[in-house]
This record gives sequence, structure tokens and C-alpha cells, in this order.
Amino acid sequence: MSGNAHGGFSYAEMSRTLIKDCVVVPVTAPGFFTGSVGVEGGRIVLVADNAREEDRRRVEEFRTAAARGPGSCPPREMDGRGKLLMPGLVNTHTHVAMTLMRNMADDLPLMAWLRERVWPFESRLTPGDITVGARLGMAEMLLSGTTTLIDMYWHEAAVARAARETGIRALLCPSFIDGERMSGFERDLDETLAAAEGVETLTVRPAPHAAYSCSAENLRRAVDLARRHNLGITIHVSETLDEQRMIRERHGCTPTEYLRDAGVFSVPAIAAHCVHVTDGDIEILRTNGVTVAHNPQSNMKLASGAAPVARMLDAGVNVTIGTDGASSNNDLDMWDEMRSASLLGKLTAADPAVMPAWEVVKMATAAGARAIGMEGRLGIVAEGAIADLILVDTQKPHWYPHNNPVSALVYSARASDVHTVWVNGREVVSGGRLTSLDTDALMRDVQRCVASTCVSP
Ligand SMILES: [Zn+2]
Repeated sequence: MSGNAHGGFSYAEMSRTLIKDCVVVPVTAPGFFTGSVGVEGGRIVLVADNAREEDRRRVEEFRTAAARGPGSCPPREMDGRGKLLMPGLVNTHTHVAMTLMRNMADDLPLMAWLRERVWPFESRLTPGDITVGARLGMAEMLLSGTTTLIDMYWHEAAVARAARETGIRALLCPSFIDGERMSGFERDLDETLAAAEGVETLTVRPAPHAAYSCSAENLRRAVDLARRHNLGITIHVSETLDEQRMIRERHGCTPTEYLRDAGVFSVPAIAAHCVHVTDGDIEILRTNGVTVAHNPQSNMKLASGAAPVARMLDAGVNVTIGTDGASSNNDLDMWDEMRSASLLGKLTAADPAVMPAWEVVKMATAAGARAIGMEGRLGIVAEGAIADLILVDTQKPHWYPHNNPVSALVYSARASDVHTVWVNGREVVSGGRLTSLDTDALMRDVQRCVASTCVSP
């Protein structure tokens, strides 16, 4: 146990580490190599390919304290043989506290699911409940190699608290719909900004819920606030045919057109779902640099449809991968989601060549970093990049034979293969165990919270 009671981390975790002789999937270029990676002060300071003599010399230099000058100590060395090192996964769309609703309301269409089950349940949640649910979701995510999440909910300051405790990187997006929740939104945004202040791993964006639940006036208000604080926007877009019809009846246009006209895409935007989009909508997304968060399992479970991901990628849209909330999935497993994205993409396009493993790995890493304005600094294994990294155990039957590790990541790897996880250079999962929280105590808290606070007759 290396975290402290306040969710802080000891200096030891930030010390120099050398992960030796692992398979590296850098994502900066297709493919992989066997090599060693050095981390120091939250940054990747060494990426070495074992096949290159010059790189082998640099590894030796990194190992030798003398080469680092007075006061320097040798790095902690980890044997990476039989393991694969890659960037941490970026889950670009979730509602992390909805883990509390996991397996509670299933097998319903989206609108009935929201109106009859989700919204009434959520109206009873306190900020304390949301922290408990967020801790659970973040524990699940870190243990399965997700190092960044983009969360959309309300009481995001309560989510910020769980993020600080667990050490995960988060873009916190306080959400609102017209009516009651709107009144608390600006306070929610201010509280979230205050909670994220000075925490390097936390950023904030306002999140109008969707075109069908937010008036143009409220959308503009959110955009003004985003501009005032120099932030982007996150929003659900064109998730279902019902939504498409509703917006067409009310406004005579598509949800994408409606949001563009309300100015939503005039700031950096992440559009979750984009299942029912026209060629014109795709062009709007592309020209405005909107990132799409594709949530294949949630879309399948709610029978919302299949997003035309191959077409969007072809058009040059930045498409990323999200799990959506655990109540419409019902887990936060990005490995499952990568595989589903690839398989559903092939089925939808009736073309087995689309969405190859390499492209899907990029969607779940580098493209996710681009979504939050951190392209080239996150989601890659490169010298100078932020050390959000995962080490995956490949010594399991479903990994053999070791033909193509990039294919394995998408087509046969499992969340339980994740061995060690670093966020900002901090080791938050070690040997498959969380370093910051007692998982058993957390699960008991969750069960108590749902039994006593959240469920009303
Ligand atoms: Zn969602």
C-alpha cells in the first residue's frame, strides 16, 4: 500500500524506473519492438530499441547513477520479459458513478431506460454516493489499464475527489439538462473547477446533455461559459433514431446541424455516439475538428444502432472509444470495447479490412489524447511524453503463439492481463492490485451505499 489516506502518493513512486526488455507498442508508428523504457518525474525519458546498439548504450547510461550527476540514484529496474508496454487507454465517454446502477435496469430502449429508471434513480443520489460510485468505476478502469477517463455527470466535484484518491487522469464534465438541473449547473461547474485547480491530472469542460434535452439558449450559455474559462464542450450527439426524429420535428434539421448552429462546435468538442449521422453531419464534424466518442457496446445493448465509424475515419474525423456508463454496457472494460469497435465496424461496413487492430489501438490511445488537446504528449510511448503507461502480461494461453502482439491487443487480450499501470509516472496498479485504495473495503462501501441510500421503495 503506497498511497496515503488523503489519496496522495509518496515520492518513491515518482522515482526513476526502468522497464527492461519488454515488447513496446509505441503507437507513434505502426508495429512494435523489443526494448526498454525509462520513466522519471512523470515523464518518459528513455525509449530504447534493443536491436540498436546506440539505444543499448543509452539504457546502460540510464542505469548508471554516476551518469546522472551528484545526488542521483540508480533507477528501480523491472524485468519486462513476457510483458508488453503501451500507452494507458483513454476512455472518452463514460458516466463513472453509474457503476452504482450496474445490472439494475437492463433490456430497455434508451428513452424508457432514461425516463423510467435512470433519471428517477439519479435524482436520489447525493454527492457522497457519486464519490463512492466513481471510486468503484475508477478502480475497475485502472485495474483494466484505463489511465484517462472523460466523465460526464453532475456533482463532478465529487468525481474529482475519487479521481484524486485513485490517481486516475480525468476530464470532468459537469452535465446539465433543461429545467431543474440547469439551475445547479453553474455552481457545479465552479465547484468542479475549484476541485481540479492545481491538480495536474484533472481538467474540466461543461457538458450539455444532448440536443433533445437542451434548448439552444442553454447550449449557448454553456458555450459562453466554456469560452470564458477557455474550455471545450462534451455532449451526446445523434445516439438514436428517436433523437434524430425529435430534432427534425422541432427544428427541421439534424442534431449535428442544430448543435453547430447553437455554436457548440465553435469550441473544442467531443461528441459521444454519432450513431445516426448523415454525410453532411460527418462533414460538419470533420471541418469543426469535433472528436467522436464511439461506444459500440452501449449502442448495441440499447439497440441504438451502429455508428458509421469506418466512414467517419475515412473522412478524417478523430474517432475515439468510450464505454459509456456501466449501466448500459455493463462494464468499463476498454479491451472489450476495442474488440467490439473493430468487429461491429467490420460488420457495419460489410468489409473485414476496415478498422484493423492497429487503427483501433490508436483510437483507444493517441486519438483519445487528441480529444483532450494532448496530442503528441499523451497516448504514446515516446521520449518527453507523459508517463501514462500500462504493462500487460502476455504469458497466458490466449496470447500464444506470439505472432502479432498488436492484433492480440484487440482480438485476444483481456482486461485481467493488465499487470502494472502508471499515471503521470505514479504506479497506481502494481502486480494487478490498486496501490491507492483497498478494493475489498470499496466493494463493501458500494454495496452499503446502494442498499441504504440509493434504493427507495
Ligand atoms: Zn453517455
